[in-house]
Amino acid sequence: MRRFFVDSEQIDDRKINIIGKDVKHIRDVLRLIEGDSIEISSNGINHVCVIEEIFKDKIVVYILESITGQHEPSIEVILYQAIAKGNKMDLIIQKATEIGVKEFHIVSTNRSIVKISDKRKENLRIERLLSIAEEAAKQSKRDYIPKVEGIYDFEHILNILKDEDNIIVAYEDEENIGMKEILKDIKGHRINLVIGPEGGFETYEIEKLKDIGANIVSLGPRILRTETAGLVASTMILYELGDMGVIL
Ligand code: SAH
Repeated sequence: MRRFFVDSEQIDDRKINIIGKDVKHIRDVLRLIEGDSIEISSNGINHVCVIEEIFKDKIVVYILESITGQHEPSIEVILYQAIAKGNKMDLIIQKATEIGVKEFHIVSTNRSIVKISDKRKENLRIERLLSIAEEAAKQSKRDYIPKVEGIYDFEHILNILKDEDNIIVAYEDEENIGMKEILKDIKGHRINLVIGPEGGFETYEIEKLKDIGANIVSLGPRILRTETAGLVASTMILYELGDMGVIL
């Protein structure tokens, strides 16, 4: 059954008003009609619904059953991803959403090839990544659509992270400490994962992250592309501490 996301204000008792781009998709692409079943997610609750009435710019569905979502990991992985060029960011957002990452913060570090100067272009980029996150959340049956924020500079990220625990920085020049060792000492359920750009981290960036208590880890002896590293690292975390390694 296809899943769509709505805001809680679209829910009125047992009725839900679907609006926006989903109306055209449901009516004209999926060609669903009155009486068809559809799944609506909102705030982690999944509602099994039946389509009651289809209008030009609204579809009214009736809630048959509501179930608390079971598809979110118990571990919240917040991915601070250095901005990558081309459509690598699309791939990162799509795949990491399937894996179970909770939030994305896009960062411009010193060696980031993509330099965003124009605020308008930046907002358009984030909007595009948000819609990729929504599509991936629908496809992978997530109970929430991951947040996508940014594009922040490195100092801004340091400012956010200095008040956080469980900061894990994947550093290509780290040769001794691995993820397995770090995850043993993790307390709490929120992990802040930092991945560098195609050009890698500057030494001073790593020092500044160490100064705020970050754990610097190796992802193994091979150099992974930036678009691979975040997927591998979040999978390691969700396998070791979350629900990817546990048969529920
Ligand atoms: N240009 C660099 C590689 C950067 S890879 C070089 O050739 O050395 C992009 C990012 O992926 C890195 O900044 C790091 O965050 C992560 N990464 C890639 N391979 C890694 C590894 N083996 N261990 C830890 N982090 C890695």
